[in-house]
Amino acid sequence: MNLDTRADSKNVAAGFGGTIGRTPHIVLPKLSAALGRTIVGKAEFLNPGGSVKDRAAKGIVDDAEHRGALGPGGTIVEGTAGNTGIALALIGNARGYRTIICVPDDQSPEKYELLRTFGADLRIVPAAPFANPENYYHVAQRIAAQIPGAIWADQFNNIANRRAHYETTGPEIWEALGERLTAFVAACGTGGTLAGAGAALKERDPRVRVVLCDPEGSSLFCYVEAGTLDAPGDSITEGIGIKRITKNFEGAPVDDALRIDDRAMVEMAYWLLGEEGLFVGGSAALNVVGASRLARTLPEGSTVVTILCDGGERYRSRLWNAEWLRENDLVPSASGLAFL
Ligand code: PMP
Repeated sequence: MNLDTRADSKNVAAGFGGTIGRTPHIVLPKLSAALGRTIVGKAEFLNPGGSVKDRAAKGIVDDAEHRGALGPGGTIVEGTAGNTGIALALIGNARGYRTIICVPDDQSPEKYELLRTFGADLRIVPAAPFANPENYYHVAQRIAAQIPGAIWADQFNNIANRRAHYETTGPEIWEALGERLTAFVAACGTGGTLAGAGAALKERDPRVRVVLCDPEGSSLFCYVEAGTLDAPGDSITEGIGIKRITKNFEGAPVDDALRIDDRAMVEMAYWLLGEEGLFVGGSAALNVVGASRLARTLPEGSTVVTILCDGGERYRSRLWNAEWLRENDLVPSASGLAFL
């Protein structure tokens, strides 16, 4: 049998890694009509591991293999809010690496279940501030250092993460929207998506505005606006918001920042499901709020693209659970898009 494992241009791809990326750009018709500006969501939830983090994970693993740091029988260790771990576990299975994934204990249970199902060695650690040596990030670093042949993926400071978005996410957006594009909006966890895709877009057209949207409880809004690391408030969103400047965020070509509260995020999540048929997670909904609020400040006919980071399935016990929303005083109640 001739097993041709090359990816080609006819929508045939080699293995798990070959199916990452080239995600659709979904124009949100009702939202765009309501705003008089085109809002486009890049459907990262359609990646094979279900999130935007597939790209970073593949970039990190490819880079480690290329440098000779990761080889047959190797182990990948990472500290993650979940999605990077999920992506690494699947890539690890496809390429023959063991994965040890450290996740704080305040994330949605669906992500733990997926990690276990996918065969990762899951280490749930008590949520702790970054300064605490027991924070999941430091725990992962220590575990990797103790295992021969292991790498620490270090998605926060390993710029193979940002490079993956510079080489794939940004160029894909430009290829799809090109000269029509007015602005690119995204929230940050590691900053890889915003910095990498933002840099690729700016390089193609410096007039493209790159805008951060930040949840409450994160420092990046204040950092962009005032150069401080203040982080008022709190958020139920997962995978976004950070209180330090990572190597992946450092130097990101950010023109402006918006802060988005959880109420608007939840309202948008339910509006997107009910009106656009899109079932997404909290960071995707927050991104669409950011894109919409920015779009309103831009000339009519502008086009704003953002990232639909992952799907709603992963948050069925929280964002998509009426009882949980009631307990957190976040039951959606807006009429139409009044919350924007
Ligand atoms: N949304 C979700 C659900 C995520 O898991 C992440 C990654 N932590 C992001 C958004 C942010 O992506 P990035 O790390 O590239 O900033």
